[in-house]
Amino acid sequence: MVSVRLAVINYDFCKPDKCSTECISYCPIDRSGGKAIELAEIVKGKPVIYEETCIGCGICVKKCPFEAITVINLPDQYEGELIHRYGVNGFKLFGIPTLKEGFITGILGKNGTGKTTMLKIISGELIPNFGDTQGPSSQEEVLRRFKGKEMYSYFKDLYSKEIRVVHKIQYVEYAGRFLKGTVAEVLTKVDQRGKVDEIKTLLSMERFWNKDCKVLSGGELQKLLIAAALARDADVYVFDEPSSYLDVRERTNMAKAIRELTKNKYVVLVEHDLVVLDFLADFLNIVYGEGSIYGKVSKVYSARVGINNFLNGFLPAENMKIRQDKIDFVIKELSELDFAKGVKEKIIWSDIYKDNSGFKLKINSGKAREGEIIGIVGPNGIGKTTFVKILVGEYKPDVGEVIPDELRLSYKPQVISPNSDLTVKDYLENVSKDVLSNSSWFYVEVIRRLGLHRLLESVVNNLSGGELQKLLIAAALARDADVYVFDEPSSYLDVEERYVVAKAIKKITRERKSVTFVVEHDLSIHDYIADRILVFSGTPSIEGEAKGPFSIKEGMNIFLKELGITFRRDAETGRPRVNKLDSYLDRLQKEKGEYYSI
Ligand code: ADP
Ligand code: ADP
Ligand code: SF4
Repeated sequence: MVSVRLAVINYDFCKPDKCSTECISYCPIDRSGGKAIELAEIVKGKPVIYEETCIGCGICVKKCPFEAITVINLPDQYEGELIHRYGVNGFKLFGIPTLKEGFITGILGKNGTGKTTMLKIISGELIPNFGDTQGPSSQEEVLRRFKGKEMYSYFKDLYSKEIRVVHKIQYVEYAGRFLKGTVAEVLTKVDQRGKVDEIKTLLSMERFWNKDCKVLSGGELQKLLIAAALARDADVYVFDEPSSYLDVRERTNMAKAIRELTKNKYVVLVEHDLVVLDFLADFLNIVYGEGSIYGKVSKVYSARVGINNFLNGFLPAENMKIRQDKIDFVIKELSELDFAKGVKEKIIWSDIYKDNSGFKLKINSGKAREGEIIGIVGPNGIGKTTFVKILVGEYKPDVGEVIPDELRLSYKPQVISPNSDLTVKDYLENVSKDVLSNSSWFYVEVIRRLGLHRLLESVVNNLSGGELQKLLIAAALARDADVYVFDEPSSYLDVEERYVVAKAIKKITRERKSVTFVVEHDLSIHDYIADRILVFSGTPSIEGEAKGPFSIKEGMNIFLKELGITFRRDAETGRPRVNKLDSYLDRLQKEKGEYYSI
């Protein structure tokens, strides 16, 4: 197989004034009089690697003290699929999904592999340059390159404004900063299809209809942005992670609303909640590659087969291994958990009642053991946070008690908004002095595996949603505590990162013999991480009741019965899949009372 060089330099990390440009002085090509790497004006006096002359020995990669350089070999046939490159020695995107009118095209892949870039190209916000980083890119060139290919007519219609695109962006907090007025005012302004009332009902937006956009919760903001996209009269609807911050019922409603209101349109969906992706997408493109280095779009698969291939880490149609390990869904009953044998109870609570400024919460008595992870399910606004605050003594119950009465809490809140001018390094060191010591377990298993070591010099305020999420999770794990709470740790993380986080949470909880509560609406994650499940039900903002903790099967059954949704297991991978309402399996499982098949 003939291969070509890909050299990527992260110019944010590269600081030639703080090193001795070892990358240049040690390069064997430069040393023997050739030119593979040199300082260049076009990158403001920093190094440029010439991929044609570079032999890929990797010496510069090792010599760079800031880990700014990556040099890899890629099969040369990739070059024919090159769509875009972000500057000299920048990230490369190979391929673009083929959209089909009247179908939902899903995109699944690691963060940093170019999904947003694709969405920008599909939306017409970015004109791809096909690797020519010097000249201006042009629509004519795009049409020339796509001539004879399936996406030609799409781009032709896009550029001649025959088709209009709306794009629901990923990071909802970002949009929230710019919105003015109430939800009703914002949506009335964009109601080009006269469907706002229908959307309001489909997405259950009544309760915050007259709220000012500045005070919306994460879930409310997400629904507003989805509603605003659906209200516009467009031919192409692009949704970047529509699940973040929505609870399970809201995810189901969102999926129904998208299906209902985008019939006969082009729809593109980036989503990391596999249950939602499986439910919504007709076709799936997997994006593989190395985050921030390159991304390659796979062939098209059906949603089910694509997700299974992704979990298995192998794409048969292209004979491509995309990961060393499979992502397994280990199905476990509490009685089988080794750790649970003979472990001590850590927290015991009696029946508790609390009226918090009109919100009434009843908690049925329960226990949590040392080293246990308890998954929490239930809608938003049902008292999950209030429960945790009662446990750690921040709120005093009106009736009932918690033993012991003093517990140290470490908390990762639901909504993550950057609010620090510190660098990632200073931020983490303020939390705990030794988390960044290279030899510590925490550094290897948490900081490095989450890729935070590459962001140490970045300013917290400039991080992407996923980067900020990982930082706040690491910071919460770095604190020594009796009780850890992770409120939606999955938002903005890709599937692999979700499992890395889940493993880190599990390891730290077991080692410190603490108790961890994980509030999560991505049910595949509960399946993976939780030992038992605590179920919240009631009427959001009015009253809530907590029951459990139960075994996963029992807890999920209680929870899903209330929602009227049934899940089956995928025969190949064991992952949970939603049954279509009123399908044979849905009816059969409901008859047997098996809402969560195990
Ligand atoms: P994803 O959506 O899969 O996380 P993106 O499309 O946002 O990936 O970005 C892929 C990579 O492209 C990023 O990791 C970054 O290295 C690079 N990149 C994105 N936007 C720019 C830009 N405007 N300029 C330079 N590089 C960029
Ligand atoms: P969840 O974590 O399940 O989203 P919360 O426990 O945060 O729910 O909130 C439950 C209800 O209690 C919500 O209606 C919320 O507005 C209300 N609430 C939460 N904290 C307070 C408080 N300090 N004062 C008054 N009401 C509160
Ligand atoms: Fe030079 Fe080797 Fe670096 Fe290429 S990889 S620029 S040949 S040191």
